[in-house]
Amino acid sequence: MKIAAADIGGTAIKYGLYSQDGTCLKFAESPTDTKNGGAALIRQVGDLLESLGGAQRIGISTAGQVDPKTGTILFATDTIPGYTGTPVKRLLEERFQIPAAVENDVNSAALGEAHFGAARAYPDFLCLTYGTGIGGAIIRGGEIEYGATFSAGEFGHLITHAGGKPCTCASRGCYEQYASTRALCALVKEKTEKSLNGREIFHIIEDNDIVAQCVAQWKEEIVQGLASLVHIFNPACIVLAGGIMNQPGLVESLEAQLKEWIMPNYRGVRLMRSSLGSRAGTLGAVYRAATLECQGSEKARF
Ligand SMILES: [Zn+2]
Repeated sequence: MKIAAADIGGTAIKYGLYSQDGTCLKFAESPTDTKNGGAALIRQVGDLLESLGGAQRIGISTAGQVDPKTGTILFATDTIPGYTGTPVKRLLEERFQIPAAVENDVNSAALGEAHFGAARAYPDFLCLTYGTGIGGAIIRGGEIEYGATFSAGEFGHLITHAGGKPCTCASRGCYEQYASTRALCALVKEKTEKSLNGREIFHIIEDNDIVAQCVAQWKEEIVQGLASLVHIFNPACIVLAGGIMNQPGLVESLEAQLKEWIMPNYRGVRLMRSSLGSRAGTLGAVYRAATLECQGSEKARF
């Protein structure tokens, strides 16, 4: 079975044609049309998928909160105006007349890592993505733990500083205000008046003590949030995703620090870097589409 998959983000759509075992046959990227509302965006996605040629199923990984049963966007921020309420699954199935599966992008990346990536040996694990904010997903038995309203795993809004910095969620002191890549960049800006991205920060860390101190403080913030999660979930493994985690030695150093913050019985936990990079979302969508139960066709086994 061939699956056409797309990963819809606020700035780019990544899309590819895969076989159901995760082999990538074609892969490309295109800027997201965010100006004309949800239906126009899904028309654009449909055009990109059509360009890939013969697929039997469609898998979509997308920004926003998703009802995975109906494949509708429950809520999307203003990154994609007019996306809330878009019936993504229905629009694509009506156009292509083949089954389509829709999943939130953070969940999808975690499913990708679970079935094709870093965490293949772990049926139960947590996945956190560090970037502008911090996304999270909980995997149990190789599947997403959704929670009552499909929103479990919002680790970025774990409150780690009571009464602290205001957050986009309207609360204060959330983990992502201290431990995201954006938070690191803001801290470096505050201390040095330099506007640097994550890669640039790590590039000058050896020659700049103030920047090194900022990174050390940021790492403590990361570890303290992870310590709470380890004590709640007692996971065997946590996958850390987001470009910043590719810095050499960072994940290993975070793992060593984490073990100082957790009780002895929890210290077997492994921290792992995401292994699928920019393809994690589409690969999770491939898994979701391959395992979709639909009339008249077999559900793929993994
Ligand atoms: Zn928050």
